[in-house]
Amino acid sequence: MLPDAAETGRMQPLLAKIAAGLDDFLKFEHPDALHPGHAWRQRLDRPLPRAGIGIDGVAEELVRHVIPNGSSVPRPGFSSFITTGAVTASTLASTAAGIAAPQRYNHTAFNFLEELSLRWLAEMFGLRGMEGVYSSGGSVANLLALGAARQHAFERLGRDPAADGIDRPVAVYATAEAHHTIQRSAGVLGIGRRAVRAIACDRRGRMRVDALRAALAEDRRAGVLPMAIVANAGTTNTGAIDPLQEIGEIAQSAGVWFHVDGAYGLPGVLDERVAPLYAGLALADSVIVDPHKWLGAAVGVAATFVRDRELLRRAFTQEPAAYLEGSMAAAGTAAPAIEHSMDDFGVPYYDFGVELSAPSRGVVVWALLREIGVAGMTERIRRHNDMARHIAQVAAAHPKLELLLEPTLSICCFRYVPAAAGDVDALNQRLHRRLIRENRNMPSTTRVNGQLALRPCFIGARSTFEHAEALVADVLRIGAELEREAVPCMAEDLA
Ligand SMILES: *Cc1c(COP(=O)(O)O)cnc(C)c1O
Repeated sequence: MLPDAAETGRMQPLLAKIAAGLDDFLKFEHPDALHPGHAWRQRLDRPLPRAGIGIDGVAEELVRHVIPNGSSVPRPGFSSFITTGAVTASTLASTAAGIAAPQRYNHTAFNFLEELSLRWLAEMFGLRGMEGVYSSGGSVANLLALGAARQHAFERLGRDPAADGIDRPVAVYATAEAHHTIQRSAGVLGIGRRAVRAIACDRRGRMRVDALRAALAEDRRAGVLPMAIVANAGTTNTGAIDPLQEIGEIAQSAGVWFHVDGAYGLPGVLDERVAPLYAGLALADSVIVDPHKWLGAAVGVAATFVRDRELLRRAFTQEPAAYLEGSMAAAGTAAPAIEHSMDDFGVPYYDFGVELSAPSRGVVVWALLREIGVAGMTERIRRHNDMARHIAQVAAAHPKLELLLEPTLSICCFRYVPAAAGDVDALNQRLHRRLIRENRNMPSTTRVNGQLALRPCFIGARSTFEHAEALVADVLRIGAELEREAVPCMAEDLA
């Protein structure tokens, strides 16, 4: 039998081989995974190996068949959804963490960087006096924030909802533009998805505060307990920022928890042109951000910030367990000396959320910020916002394009307009499929006030101004092609 590589001390050449494969991948000269004639699936689809091929064989298969058939997401022209490829600093840090600190607890450098990087994020984004915890993504980060809100609302009534559940109907207020992980969180927390009230938006996708006031008053009359108001600092659809200051003041005077979902858009505060829109952040009881979006971390890093992590601990504690605390020398001693990293768990992040085993994520955020600093991050955010503004300007001026919404951050909603009357939505849908097939500049689509929009969202560290220009050029070219082809294109593109 081949020894496993753990015993052979060959990390360096093996990682070098994978790194070479990744450098090749990052040239983006390879075709899409489903290119005609692709054969990787047959090569990879083998029965359960009874005997292994050894670590060199694994490295070879990774480089030959797996890496080149990876995702479009890291491509610099990819602007779909709100997801992107990891920057190199993230890859270095998460590779290191996976080996050297497979858990984030104990008094290690990794546990220390978990806390330090959370403080850096809070400082960089102006979250004064807030404490954080990392989790796997915005979905869980929102869940933790709303768990804190639930704890807060019921503790004021003398109940512990984490221990005893909830005993009365509650309501959460968010707009129809809020991310649907808000509804899912409400389901998981036992509040129910239907407890999330859909507050009306204005034409620019921002919460209407008059509608919020009315909904709060109506629930009060009906004896429903208002649990949280959720505002967006950058909606997923269009990048809209709700009127945070006004909403925060309403929340404060109503004594209701104020949550700000900044999974995508919180880093926008670094661009001083839009920073005033974030003024109300100071009133927030909880805020989330996804370092795996605009900051360039590999997928699996989100942060939830609250004023007092003890609230999170009461909401999510796993309770002491015989198999844990007793193993720590410090437990139960009067003045515990911490002389070994294993003498104590360090900051107990596992009690502030829903994950016990979890990777060290702080080291990733630390590496991102250590590499380029706030200055580098600010430059990236401004560049991406500029790209959306550039497309908006071109679209507003060009006879064949229509700007559907003035961008707030790095998302621009626009579309192609044919000369002849016809189904503009369908034409843009076909145009979008063709963009994807060309495998270069790939936005997603959405609907803005009922109309289909092409929706580039620029967050990739490898995306530069030229990618915005190239996207517009592609849209104009393909739009003209589709106009020439008129009707027959239906069959081809919808097949
Ligand atoms: C992306 C996003 C989420 C969900 O985050 P994941 O990291 O994908 O789980 C939540 N809220 C907003 C506003 C988002 O853009």
